[in-house]
Amino acid sequence: MSDGSKPQARNEHRDDSQKRGDALNIDTSTRLCAVIGHPVSHSLSPLMHNAAYAAAGLNYVYLAFDVEDVGACLAGMRALPSFRGLSVTIPHKLAVMEHLDEIEPMAQHVGSVNTITNEGGRLVGATTDGPGTLRAFADAGVSLTGRRVLFLGAGGAVRAVAFAMAMEGACEGITILGRHPDKVRALVDDVAGKTGLVVGAGDLQDDLPYAMASHDIVVQGTPIGMHPHSDDTCVPGHLFRPDHVAFDMVYRPHRTRFIRDAETAGCRVVHGIDMLINQAVLQFEKWTGVPCPREAMRDAVTPVLSKAAP
Ligand code: NAP
Repeated sequence: MSDGSKPQARNEHRDDSQKRGDALNIDTSTRLCAVIGHPVSHSLSPLMHNAAYAAAGLNYVYLAFDVEDVGACLAGMRALPSFRGLSVTIPHKLAVMEHLDEIEPMAQHVGSVNTITNEGGRLVGATTDGPGTLRAFADAGVSLTGRRVLFLGAGGAVRAVAFAMAMEGACEGITILGRHPDKVRALVDDVAGKTGLVVGAGDLQDDLPYAMASHDIVVQGTPIGMHPHSDDTCVPGHLFRPDHVAFDMVYRPHRTRFIRDAETAGCRVVHGIDMLINQAVLQFEKWTGVPCPREAMRDAVTPVLSKAAP
């Protein structure tokens, strides 16, 4: 199918005998999705997407490609009608942009693309990291409306989520704390300038106590606490209030020190794995046009993450 529409043709769905647990049955109707990066061997995306295709009974397959020449890769994708979707990871999220036919507004603002959809030879770029995180908050029953959101860190993932919250989250204001004032200021000015939201800036150490006291939702967006440094945190436990919502982007381990301290203080928490899964859920739904069996993605990825970082 080359027109980018939903997979309605009989051959694009597998029958029950071909669902999860049975051998792959690749045929001329199979549609390809993939992740590109360099390196790409660490990616959990093939695991998540293939589990979801199997659970949904879709005639799709998802592969991983270690790619250096993104221009050649995207020319190949454009020429292959069955090549429906591409996830883009480090270091290609910016480099792919000049090769696309269209870029959705949020990805334009964020300045990076993690999702490419082949609409009958037209390559459309998007970002699902921010919208996926908004969905993770919605799944957890956390409303952003009227809330003040504090970001710890000023890197690429914070950038994606801050833009999503500023553009679609209806939050009251955002503050970003980091360790390099120039980087924080550049991000703050960009988000405020493009969205009109009130965005504050500060130092990750000096301004943390006041910022924790004056915000409702705390987003941990640095690698601090990542396996094997799972007892590290950038937030002393006593700074949490029971009415805080705490979200840690780190997903290895599942319960970071930041999350454990927040839970001890009685906070509601959102886990990094929920961002990981929901950015993939949005990709799945863009590429297939059907609801994603997200629990299949979770079931596929949870044992791998537990094994890697118990
Ligand atoms: P990034 O672009 O490299 O940004 C990292 C940020 O953390 C930067 O602001 C950096 O500060 C800061 N930082 C790093 N080490 C620090 C330290 N020791 N003390 C204080 N600040 C420190 O990385 P990213 O892509 O934004 O990823 C950030 C985290 O989110 C990573 O742990 C990543 O695994 C996780 N993540 C999770 C998901 C998910 O789906 N759950 C998705 C994307 C990322 P400087 O800029 O000043 O160096």
